[in-house]
Amino acid sequence: ISILAIESSCDETSASIIVNGKVLNNIVATQSVHEKYGGVVPELASRAHQENLIPVVQEAFSSSGVSKEQLSAVAFTRGPGLMGSLLVGVSFAKAFARSLDIPLIDVNHMQAHVLAHFIEDPKPAFPFLCLTVSGGHTQLVLVKSHLEMEVVGETQDDAVGEAFDKTAKLLGLPYPGGPLVDKYAKEGNPKAFKFPVTRMPGLNYSFSGIKTAVLYFLRDQLQTNPKFIEENLPDLCASIQYTLIEMLVIKLKEAVKQYGVKEIAIAGGVSANSGLRNTLAELARRKGWNLYVPKFEYCTDNAAMIAIAAHYKYLQGEFVGLDVTPLAKMKL
Ligand code: ATP
Ligand code: MG
Ligand code: FE
Repeated sequence: ISILAIESSCDETSASIIVNGKVLNNIVATQSVHEKYGGVVPELASRAHQENLIPVVQEAFSSSGVSKEQLSAVAFTRGPGLMGSLLVGVSFAKAFARSLDIPLIDVNHMQAHVLAHFIEDPKPAFPFLCLTVSGGHTQLVLVKSHLEMEVVGETQDDAVGEAFDKTAKLLGLPYPGGPLVDKYAKEGNPKAFKFPVTRMPGLNYSFSGIKTAVLYFLRDQLQTNPKFIEENLPDLCASIQYTLIEMLVIKLKEAVKQYGVKEIAIAGGVSANSGLRNTLAELARRKGWNLYVPKFEYCTDNAAMIAIAAHYKYLQGEFVGLDVTPLAKMKL
């Protein structure tokens, strides 16, 4: 079984080839045009996908040695994501599959973030809990099998990655600010400033309050000391990061209790955060969890995760017709 997988949901154009469940490569073109706007500009993202997609696919073929005649199927991200971005990948996949007369496989991007754990060993055992933390989502997922998963808790407003990026922006850091908050936090005191921990009912999250709290806090401090941010950057980053991790961990612990599962995984771009990784590693030691953290290149958007998801769907015979359309919102 050889599958070409395409990812184009947001601002990464990516292609990957998987043969019999083994990912051969993961070619990613990151779009830098968005940096100066402080966030992803959908119109520019679509155009960049249009430019990058063919070169990325060509590199996937040449670096794997697989030829298009050897393919068994073409897979693509159907959603959730930016409509214009998704359309580029979906249209390409349809045309490519049609020209080779092979099946098409649609993949849910959030399911793929979870399945990134099956690209390499060690792989979590079922059932496991996956905390998916990315730029657009924050979900606690109970994973029963490769293709059966249930969202048991999620954010009711902003995603945690968004909270990282928006508070970073208030600190004057460039987009995306998450990795920079992580970097400065390493030299700061997480208890230097106290920001409110929002507690939602059940296993749900809310991350919109922290950016307002940080906004007002900074406004007050800057009135008396215009240099407050530059003098306190590491402490501010550490304190914000600490608060966000607290909120993530409180619900994760509740979910572990509720479902009696000790196999714990994290996925999505924010799982690159070193504070989150350290906190979870410490918790895992104390509580006897088996913790699974994917390689960095499989945390952020990539086509390898689409490829592994497509492999499992191929085994189940789950294909779609040429009338398939992308979905900006798509449930797990
Ligand atoms: P979604 O998957 O929900 O559609 P997305 O694909 O844009 O959203 P990812 O690419 O998985 O999201 O993750 C990007 C997010 O991860 C950004 O918000 C970025 O700031 C955040 N991020 C990346 N590295 C770190 C880090 N070390 N610490 C904190 N946040 C980080
Ligand atoms: Mg991205
Ligand atoms: Fe993503």
